[in-house]
Amino acid sequence: MTNFIAMKNKSYTGLKNLLKTKPNILITTHRSPDGDAMGSSLALYQVLLELGHHVSLIVPNSYPLFLKWLPFNDEVIEFEGNEQKAEELIQEAKLIFCLDFNNLKRTDMMFNSLEKVNAKFVMIDHHQDPSSFADFCYSIPGASSTAQLIFEFIDYMDWMEYINTDIAKCIYTGLVTDTGSFRFSSVDAKTHHIAANLIEIGLNTSLVHHKLFDNNKESKLKLLGYCINDKMEVLNEYNTAIMSLSSEELAHFNFEKGDTEGFVNYALSIENIILTAFFVQDQDRVKISFRSQNNFRSNLLSKAHFNGGGHVNAAGGIFHGTLEDAIAKFKKVLPNYEKEIMANAKNC
Ligand code: 5GP
Ligand code: MN
Repeated sequence: MTNFIAMKNKSYTGLKNLLKTKPNILITTHRSPDGDAMGSSLALYQVLLELGHHVSLIVPNSYPLFLKWLPFNDEVIEFEGNEQKAEELIQEAKLIFCLDFNNLKRTDMMFNSLEKVNAKFVMIDHHQDPSSFADFCYSIPGASSTAQLIFEFIDYMDWMEYINTDIAKCIYTGLVTDTGSFRFSSVDAKTHHIAANLIEIGLNTSLVHHKLFDNNKESKLKLLGYCINDKMEVLNEYNTAIMSLSSEELAHFNFEKGDTEGFVNYALSIENIILTAFFVQDQDRVKISFRSQNNFRSNLLSKAHFNGGGHVNAAGGIFHGTLEDAIAKFKKVLPNYEKEIMANAKNC
């Protein structure tokens, strides 16, 4: 594996030389893409198009409606449901950009195809513990977002002149959605410098915020109200709050993908709460979102007990079984984390 950080110039030369051969390029991202995954992918997609490359963008499965206004959204191919076409494009690819994930398994339904394709891989990502599947790797764990790294990558590749307002919208979407609108501790001066650069290019930032956040359906807000009022449990002795939703409850509120995005953060906003877990039933499994304050490592908890991972303060995992069993397991392992919770509660 070549590491951009360790060998900046050499690596970029290698990649630049490879690009000169005009390879078929594929951009992909993780399962259930979020704002950072889609924003980063669509930004890079447009830059490569402007450079005259043959490029396709395939995501493993569907993504929330609040991202479907992004420029070039109509050119995104969802692997799930379009397997034959997607498979052909994957097998034709000679250069594959993997954005916003650092382990090929995070592509889930695309994993088998990606694993056997004869192509060079470029990984651009900000999660902890990168695996070593990529030939070119730009990994900065702790960076605010992959969108931040995409901007830097565009700069290092000398492609800045290609950034237009459509590309700026995509990069800004990644910055905003992965930083809780610039509030998480991962935000640094660079994050704001990049936002400033995008504004100088002509980006209307308030329009992006409006598109991302002022699009609630009545049923989604009612689901949020129900979730907080009826389904939130505060475990004061562990500075922890739990929320959960069953399939029946989701169906009652006409749930659509993305409707529960951000719910977990409401529980984290309660005074003295250090850890929150949000359990959502998905057929015979449960998707869990963890959020934490200070230095509580929610990614380690998720990795140890829920086949997951992520960042220190924002992680996710999966439980195979019922909603009740998932919550029971969480409550059972929680005492193991009492010390770490208390240490972080003191820092509040
Ligand atoms: P969310 O709660 O928004 O689904 O995920 C929060 C963070 O945890 C995301 O940055 C994502 O990368 C990570 N994450 C979510 N689900 C999984 C998972 O199943 N495995 C791993 N390794 N990380 C996850
Ligand atoms: Mn991200």
